[in-house]
Amino acid sequence: MAAALESEPDVLVFGAGMAGLCAGLFASLQGLRPLICEKTDKVGGTTATSAGTVWIPGARDDEDVAAAARYLEAEIGNRGSPDLRAAFLESGAAALHCLESRTEVKFRPVVPHPDYHPDLPGWSANGRAFAALPFDGRRLGRDFALVRPPIAPFMVLGGLMLGRDDIPHFVKPFASLASFRHVTGVVLRHAVDRIRFDRGTRLIMGNALVARLLFSLRRNEVPLALHSRLVELLADGGRITGAVVDIAGVRRRILARRGVVLATGGFSHSHELRAALLDRPGAEHSLAFAGDAGDGIAAGRAVGAALGDAGRAAFWMPASVLRAQRGDTVYPHIVLDRAKPGLVAVNSAGRRFVNEAVSYHDFVEAMFRSHEAVPTIPAWLLCDRAFIRDYGLGLVHPGSSEATLRRFVDVGYLRAAPSLEGLAAQLGIDPAALRATVDRHNHGCARGFDDEFGKGGTAFDRHNGDPNNRPNPCLRSIEQPPFFGVAVYPADLGTSTGLRTDRDARVLRVDGTAIEGLYACGNDMNSLMAGSYPGPGITLGPALVFAYRAVQHIMSAS
Ligand SMILES: Cc1cc2nc3c(=O)[nH]c(=O)nc-3n(C[C@H](O)[C@H](O)[C@H](O)COP(=O)(O)OP(=O)(O)OC[C@H]3O[C@@H](n4cnc5c(N)ncnc54)[C@H](O)[C@@H]3O)c2cc1C
Repeated sequence: MAAALESEPDVLVFGAGMAGLCAGLFASLQGLRPLICEKTDKVGGTTATSAGTVWIPGARDDEDVAAAARYLEAEIGNRGSPDLRAAFLESGAAALHCLESRTEVKFRPVVPHPDYHPDLPGWSANGRAFAALPFDGRRLGRDFALVRPPIAPFMVLGGLMLGRDDIPHFVKPFASLASFRHVTGVVLRHAVDRIRFDRGTRLIMGNALVARLLFSLRRNEVPLALHSRLVELLADGGRITGAVVDIAGVRRRILARRGVVLATGGFSHSHELRAALLDRPGAEHSLAFAGDAGDGIAAGRAVGAALGDAGRAAFWMPASVLRAQRGDTVYPHIVLDRAKPGLVAVNSAGRRFVNEAVSYHDFVEAMFRSHEAVPTIPAWLLCDRAFIRDYGLGLVHPGSSEATLRRFVDVGYLRAAPSLEGLAAQLGIDPAALRATVDRHNHGCARGFDDEFGKGGTAFDRHNGDPNNRPNPCLRSIEQPPFFGVAVYPADLGTSTGLRTDRDARVLRVDGTAIEGLYACGNDMNSLMAGSYPGPGITLGPALVFAYRAVQHIMSAS
């Protein structure tokens, strides 16, 4: 039997991503003694490599939560739990305010960042999204090395993070004095950073969020046990009392006085749960952190916890793959290319199957639907030379030189041909069909109207288009050779199905009763979105809010 650890925390948290770090932080703010156990040598999980946006309705002064309730009702309806939705909306503003007022976890409203479905009642054009404020990694001292770095494609110049707002400046540094100043400031700071650190310390997006959480936890003296993996839960008379933890290869029993929180990031890398729950064709790629292997879900089920429904069990992004001997690079096509003017997505018949500007999740759902009739995995994103010059394509940065393009072609990431027909032949597509598709698309561009799928027809589409492109920010003729294509595949960005909980994140049994002392949040919790993706930040937002509610419940229950 594993030996018991001497210290007995009030709250034992597994997983150091958004959900676990928030649970530990909220517990410390309540005067509880938490212990956060993380199985790897770093904190952050998928959260650290994410965009770091949280969707929290009602947290802006001018916002009406009732509209968000209508929106979620229209989006999810009976597929999800109205009770969870109500709890999320009830506590969102308070949870965010608690972090912002009492810790270094600070956000800014991102305005506009429209919700994803403009046709639904309660939709917001401004959106309900908040982004973590940038953070100076130097403030963490030695702990900076503990923050999981972003994925390689999101960094340039050996570890410099660039966000969406930086890109126009970096693409055209001499366009204005402001751009020149911005670029030189960022690059000089980075050069100095690289003398002392492995990567840049100008942290943004998910990395800033995790760094802010870690900084605040350290300030509150919350213990963090790395290399500490949840093995199984301990129960006494139906109540969860602690867990067996593998600490750097040695098994110990850790008892928790008031509760155990599962926050191990869902099941993206569990072969068994993927096979059981993700009934989707070609769904072999994942953008989630490799450590998110369903450990919390398995431990919960072993003590009788109920699992949510299969079906819409994951959230998706289209991803291109650069294959290399030292490992594949999987690049998420989130907002930088698909909605821009001069790109179409086609299936193997050379036909478009979707408005390319829809959200990443909806794009992949459309791939799945199209694939039922015509092979659409992979789908091809196609564009011309001018598009790559202006916007880039996946891993290929805007403004890339001919030599760079050739390198991407040589390694098989990009396909290129001097004519559309030649490109079609390379992709195994009927040249006449592809020509007809592009002609129809181009015909609509002059009028600014996509008569097939309405690309650029909504405020959401236009938000991700190019405002300088008229009359439609999402439409421009594809006509300047050579022509390029990149294959995209469905890749999950996290899982939606998880352990069933009540409105306080208490894990439920199959009969609906709560397992005393056991909580789940983040992607270990069955998402209140039930596989829908209504807006930016709909996994990290609920992770924050239900970590808050779990701790509130722990306080009230004891
Ligand atoms: C490119 C990209 C961008 C994204 N952008 C956003 C966004 O802007 N907004 C948004 O809401 N969502 C976004 N997502 C999704 C979001 O990042 C994840 O849904 C979210 O980070 C999950 O948080 P979590 O705390 O549940 O898990 P994670 O952040 O993955 O953390 C889980 C942690 O648990 C640890 N762990 C696993 N097993 C054990 C064990 N047995 N014992 C101890 N520890 C364990 C893991 O090592 C990991 O550190 C994005 C995803 C991707 C890929």
